[in-house]
Amino acid sequence: MQKKTVGLAAASLVLGILIYVVAGQLVQHLGTVTGDGIAAIVFGIPAIICGHLAKSKIKRNPAQLKGGGMAITGLVLGYLAVVGTLGLAIDIRLEHGNNETSRKICVTNLRAINNAKWQWEFDSGKPKGSLVKQSDLTIYFKDGVVPTCPKGGSYSYNPTGVDPECSIHGKLKVE
Ligand SMILES: [Zn+2]
Repeated sequence: MQKKTVGLAAASLVLGILIYVVAGQLVQHLGTVTGDGIAAIVFGIPAIICGHLAKSKIKRNPAQLKGGGMAITGLVLGYLAVVGTLGLAIDIRLEHGNNETSRKICVTNLRAINNAKWQWEFDSGKPKGSLVKQSDLTIYFKDGVVPTCPKGGSYSYNPTGVDPECSIHGKLKVE
C-alpha cells in the first residue's frame, strides 16, 4: 500500500516558505521589524502548529503516512522566523536603552557645564550674556576635562544665561 502524504505537513512547508516570500514584500513597505514580525506571526506560527500536528499524525501511523521531512522543514522555517523576529525586537530595545542612557549622560554633562558657567560668571564678574570659552570652564572640572557627549555630539557652551546645548541631544532640559 502506498503511503499518503499528510496534508498538514505540506501546509507547514508552504507556510514556512511563505513567511520569507511575504516578509520580503512587507519589509519594503513596513520596514524590517514590522514586516518580519507580521510575516512571522501570520505564517510562522501556523507553520509551527501544522508541522507539529503533522509530525504527531505521522508518528501515530508511520506505516501509512509520510511527509515528516516536509513537516520538519516547515517547523524549522517557522521557528527561525519567530526566533529571528524576537531577536531583532530585543536588539532594538537594547539600542533604545543605549540611546536613553546616552541622553541621560549628555543631560548630566550639560547640567555640569551649566553649573560651571554660573561659577565662571560669578568668579569672573562678567555680565550675563558673556561668551564662554572651553578654556574658561576647564578649572571647574576634574583634571580640567570638560565632559563631552557620549554619542559624539558637539557642545555649544552658549553665553551665560543661555543653556548649553548638544548637537545631537539638544538643549539642557530641566526634568
Ligand atoms: Zn549629546
